[in-house]
Amino acid sequence: MEIKKAEFIKSAVYANEYPKFNNFTEFSFIGRSNVGKSSLINSLTKRKNLARTSKTPGRTQLINYFLINDKIHFVDLPGYGFAKVPQAVKKNWGKIIEDYLTSDRKKIVFLLLDLRRIPSNEDMEMLKWLEHFEIEYYIIFTKSDKLSNNEKFKQLKEIKKKLVFDNEDVFFYSSLKNTGREELLKFIEEKTQN
Ligand code: GDP
Repeated sequence: MEIKKAEFIKSAVYANEYPKFNNFTEFSFIGRSNVGKSSLINSLTKRKNLARTSKTPGRTQLINYFLINDKIHFVDLPGYGFAKVPQAVKKNWGKIIEDYLTSDRKKIVFLLLDLRRIPSNEDMEMLKWLEHFEIEYYIIFTKSDKLSNNEKFKQLKEIKKKLVFDNEDVFFYSSLKNTGREELLKFIEEKTQN
């Protein structure tokens, strides 16, 4: 799939603000702050600044909707894992995400994990939520350019002590080098046709 058109549609907080239901498949991106979510959306769409990168942590708790090629949605979900954010904001984040996950939309979620880090408790909570709400989801390991093949091999072994998966079932992505881009776009195209 080649992304010919990518446009910001709207920001939403709760379900009544999502774009009108139109049976488009939604591909949503979620992960802890700084995992590289904005960079990945920009890389996928080849837009420098479609999703904003490196915003002030915790400030934007919005769901951002993008329309891709006039036929699918990319959904940028608010990140988690801000140490300094007040409890009330965290609670609010939970409501926003729960509302989204339980919404009646055709969604596929990509959970982003930084390849250099062992998944945090919040990452594991997020996974539990996805399982609990029976969401179709896939893992994308980000910033893959930061590790050599040998380091990657070792790191995956460590991550697997906490999280079980097959290497063939996850994606590896570098927004810096656009590695993994074609594979992910192909996957998205296949999922759109199903
Ligand atoms: P977000 O908070 O999840 O949206 O994360 P950002 O996209 O803003 O990225 C956080 C930081 O990681 C920024 O300094 C990015 O330049 C950097 N970054 C993101 N993706 C990559 C990547 O694939 N490779 C490298 N080397 N750095 C990345």
